[in-house]
Amino acid sequence: MSDLILFWHRRDLRLSDNVGLAVAREKTPKVAGVFCLDPNILNRDDVAPARVKYMAGCLQELQQRYAEVGARLLILQGDPRQAIPALAAALSAKAVYWNSDIELYSRERDKAVSEALRAKGIAVENLWDQLLHAPAEIRSGSGTPYTVYTPFWKNWIAKPKAQPVLELHNAEPLTEKELQAALDAGEGVAPWKDLEKVWSNPLLLEPGELSAKEKLEEFCASPIFDYQEQRNFPAAPGTSMLSAALKFGAIGIRTVWEAAQGALEQCRSDEAFASVQTWQQELAWREFYQHAMYHFPELASGAYREPFKNFPWQNKEEHFLAWCEGKTGYPIVDAAMRQLNETGWMHNRCRMIVASFLTKDLIINWQWGEKYFMQKLVDGDLAANNGGWQWSASSGMDPKPLRIFNPATQAQKFDPEGEYIREWLPELSSFDAEVLVTGKISDRDRDACGYPAPIVDHNQQQRRFKALYQQQKGF
Ligand SMILES: Cc1cc2nc3c(=O)[nH]c(=O)nc-3n(C[C@H](O)[C@H](O)[C@H](O)COP(=O)(O)OP(=O)(O)OC[C@H]3O[C@@H](n4cnc5c(N)ncnc54)[C@H](O)[C@@H]3O)c2cc1C
Repeated sequence: MSDLILFWHRRDLRLSDNVGLAVAREKTPKVAGVFCLDPNILNRDDVAPARVKYMAGCLQELQQRYAEVGARLLILQGDPRQAIPALAAALSAKAVYWNSDIELYSRERDKAVSEALRAKGIAVENLWDQLLHAPAEIRSGSGTPYTVYTPFWKNWIAKPKAQPVLELHNAEPLTEKELQAALDAGEGVAPWKDLEKVWSNPLLLEPGELSAKEKLEEFCASPIFDYQEQRNFPAAPGTSMLSAALKFGAIGIRTVWEAAQGALEQCRSDEAFASVQTWQQELAWREFYQHAMYHFPELASGAYREPFKNFPWQNKEEHFLAWCEGKTGYPIVDAAMRQLNETGWMHNRCRMIVASFLTKDLIINWQWGEKYFMQKLVDGDLAANNGGWQWSASSGMDPKPLRIFNPATQAQKFDPEGEYIREWLPELSSFDAEVLVTGKISDRDRDACGYPAPIVDHNQQQRRFKALYQQQKGF
């Protein structure tokens, strides 16, 4: 057995502030990275092309970064349950390290990989990296997981946070013999071109840890101080745009927290202080949903709250198609769906608006929307997406059960000049803001610009939804 430790990257595509990788490097200078292109994930029907392109870009940069520190990132293709133990055995690695994940698929896969490695006499080490606090650290007074955000936040923010860990440095390279053994075990040229060409539109955030760090610095230098106000306006560049980097771990969460704490110290006004804290609360929402998915994996397959377990959704296919294509006749909804389809990203305010519209106006099962989002989002993440959808559908862990957004009121408040609507619906660009936000476009004008009439009436559907909901609750 050699001194080699293999570090298996999954959603931590970086060398800096990577807990498992840093611990491996403390044990030995002979560290090699490995990533496995898993067909069980890549062949799913909810994989977004933008997400694949972002991941492929991160991996290519990671390969270069490994080369710069004298080491190697090996790329495998195949089921990790066989591929990882086979590679570790071929290299006579003494151990395989990785960072833990919260998703059920990953946990079951990791258990199988651990068993196969240990059966070969290879040690295994798992650490927590993607969260500031691992699921076991945040418990209510009675020792149970939280199901409501506010008490979770109070407990979570009161706990000390770890500092970023040391970046991988001065690693010892693999020998020619080891590289040949890796090739024989299936390591090879990765299909980057095929993976990248699935999405031809530009990515909003350049892949990789260097651009994620730049983005973080840029955001914490100025926009973070106006976040509380600006984050609600989809036409403004008021949010960090770090979601894909956080999803794939192109940036370490301790690094992100350190930058936010640094911003907190720079605050010159109560408003700025409140803004930075609001951003920190969003990071805590990310952790809340990951903890929820870890403790209640059944969330991934259905509603949390009883009235929604057998809800009589209307599920009209033609309405769903209109929603997907941004042709509902409600300008703010359609603008948002076009932003998603063209960029692979949608502003948070608009995610809430379109999710409310799908579930409460079109009365379509939230799981249809959840899947469509996963098929499109560059940051598509099981826990955050499922959490967002169950929050919007009122089916999740949420003390305020029935939230119905009025699309016109939302547009009036958050896109008052119609800037966002004009950007994504250029066919409506010549109309006044009032027309755009209310959606009150005459039939003649609609015909002239080829924009559809509303497919449902908001007020009528709202009453219908409420009646169905009351029946489910047994009133
Ligand atoms: C229906 C719906 C679906 C969503 N699906 C996803 C998803 O698949 N992946 C995803 O990362 N976010 C999802 N979100 C949350 C949120 O919309 C995005 O995280 C945010 O818009 C990303 O932009 P940003 O990086 O500029 O966010 P910022 O406002 O700068 O926030 C910083 C980070 O905090 C986290 N965050 C912010 N808001 C939330 C939230 N409500 N829940 C969980 N984490 C949050 C993200 O990691 C984000 O990058 C969803 C929200 C809704 C309502």
